[in-house]
Amino acid sequence: MNSEAERSGLAGAREALDAVDRRIVDALAERVALVRGVADHKLASEAAEPVRDAAREEDLLTRVAELGRAAGVDQALVARLYREILDHSVRVQEGALTGVGAADVEGQRARVVYEGAPGAFSHMAAAQHFAGREDSVRLDGLDHLRALGEAVSDGDADYAVLPIENTLSGTIPETWDLIDELDLRLVGEEVITVEHCLLTLEPMPLTHIRRVISREQALSQCRGLLRSLEGVEVQAFGNTALSARKVQTDQDPSQAAIASLEAARAYDLHVLKRGIADLADNRTRFVVVAREAVTPDLRLPCKTSLVVGTRHEPGALLAVLNALADHGLNLSKLESRPRRDMPWDYMFYVDLEGNAADPEVAEALDAARAEARFLKVLGSYPARTTEKLAKARPAGAASAAPADPAPPPAPAPTSEAEVVRELLARKPYRLASRLGRAEDSRVRVGDAEFGGAEPIIIAGPCSVESREQVMAAAAAVHDQGGHVLRGGCFKPRTSPYAFQGLGYEGLELLAEAGRAVGLPIVTEVLHPKDVAPVARIADMLQIGARNMQNFALLKAAGAVDRPVMLKRGLMASVDEWLAAAEYVLAHGNQQVVLCERGIRTFETATRNTLDLSSVPVVRERSHLPVIVDPSHAAGTRRWIPDLCRAALAVGAHGLMVEVHPCPAEALSDGPQALTFEGWAALMADLGPPGPTGEEGEER
Ligand code: PEP
Ligand code: MN
Repeated sequence: MNSEAERSGLAGAREALDAVDRRIVDALAERVALVRGVADHKLASEAAEPVRDAAREEDLLTRVAELGRAAGVDQALVARLYREILDHSVRVQEGALTGVGAADVEGQRARVVYEGAPGAFSHMAAAQHFAGREDSVRLDGLDHLRALGEAVSDGDADYAVLPIENTLSGTIPETWDLIDELDLRLVGEEVITVEHCLLTLEPMPLTHIRRVISREQALSQCRGLLRSLEGVEVQAFGNTALSARKVQTDQDPSQAAIASLEAARAYDLHVLKRGIADLADNRTRFVVVAREAVTPDLRLPCKTSLVVGTRHEPGALLAVLNALADHGLNLSKLESRPRRDMPWDYMFYVDLEGNAADPEVAEALDAARAEARFLKVLGSYPARTTEKLAKARPAGAASAAPADPAPPPAPAPTSEAEVVRELLARKPYRLASRLGRAEDSRVRVGDAEFGGAEPIIIAGPCSVESREQVMAAAAAVHDQGGHVLRGGCFKPRTSPYAFQGLGYEGLELLAEAGRAVGLPIVTEVLHPKDVAPVARIADMLQIGARNMQNFALLKAAGAVDRPVMLKRGLMASVDEWLAAAEYVLAHGNQQVVLCERGIRTFETATRNTLDLSSVPVVRERSHLPVIVDPSHAAGTRRWIPDLCRAALAVGAHGLMVEVHPCPAEALSDGPQALTFEGWAALMADLGPPGPTGEEGEER
């Protein structure tokens, strides 16, 4: 035998193989580039072609399998490879049609963070999700879930890939907590089949293993096998990929890790046993989160995730779900989670099939919002969990009618209602607009309901000053039939030397006073960081005139499930005021009450000019309840009764007045505070209290 000749023959064959592999990879690269071209073409065109065309894919698979057969290649192999290739193509097109994973304007790659290291299931999810976008993203492994969420919310990363549920162990609460707390949005999902493997340094019998390390969940999913290994120490360690890496670095052949096949490859380990979990079909669903939601192209079959808080009344959840079902939306998931700030109160997490950018889905969401206390759209993204999602309709076409590229000019409006509709269609607010909601919305605070026929009266001191003061005011407010007790604890004062309020100490006093007389309380918040803690104590939050366009504060108020009273800014137009309310609504909180409190004009006879014309204007433009605070507008107590009557006459849903046991000694706004006698006279003048006044029958 000529071993020299044999060797050179082998080397030649290997070289030829290398050349073929290069050709295969080059061909794949060429194919990916063509797919990108197709995606760009689809992006530029409004044509109705769906991104995923099942029939076309089946045809292609049949065609290549046939080519394989003719060329003498195993058809099953060809079909399997092509399924992967097609899946990759879909992801490349999705990337183009969602914009997720694109480089920034300066060409900087997007940073994607995942938990663990290469070979971790989270890494597989990230790699799978951003397949085809390798040149515009970079993947970084971080140590734990919180670090991932914070990297995104702090702007250190663009996307995080977070595990959210597992077919065996259920929901991952920590991920939901991060999404809530850091106000993250969902821009994608990915499902990974988890195949746990036992990895060692080298081949050996199972009986030689002395220690098994892995992530706790992985260990608990492989109990059967671990129990069968006698005398083995089982140790929880970071995550699966880090455990695999440790087996490699420790170089101890008696140590094994439970991790993925990818981890075996990444750390050059031997796969001693595959599929070692107790139960088959172990899949983990990951979500891709970002700071902002995306608007996927309508041709992508999408899913939309929501967080919903319902009213505390029978059938409240059903009303929300019916609103979605009535619009033909299919729910793929409904889950409740207890609220951390309120025992025995729940938030509902809903996934539905559809894209929030689809006008029909948007209409359904508006209808659901009208039934909910809180509704936040976490995002729309290409779906992975439903095999056969209904094909999305072509972009821009809401009905089956063929898309018309040049709609005829709208006919000139004929009625006043049409004039208003046209006007509202151009406004920078949608959720606050009357356009989507004919009925007045109702906002419940304790037993009081803003937005109904009965005017709701809020009264109390400008500032909480002491226990005696707030207790006395609370008793007076209650005795005359007031519905809500007010009191400022964080005061927005023009001068830094003026009384700034008692802060949380004042809030405790106000809460105590409210409890003592059985009235809900409202207080102002000045800083976003105070919104959640104050919301845990107060029944309603006030955003004051000076903060009407404090957008960080508005967003924070939108993130809590607590009614918000939004005062009109001193220099704000009605539309700016409604657009400010839109911030709160758009961030989830649907319980907004507007409060007109006077604006700056050339007039100096009153502290501010009470713009009562804003009330009918707001009621025409918006479904939100609107109340009037004549105290801060007039600045002087003697005009308050007349202004209260005028406010109710123009349609205000309620009033807010300042009342103090001894206005002359008040630490803020004394001249405008009603005395107890003035307050009693006002209430007598306004007429008998409605059904919520306990002593109603006496008056
Ligand atoms: C208040 O209600 O005490 C207050 C400061 O109101 P405004 O923001 O309307 O001035
Ligand atoms: Mn005041």
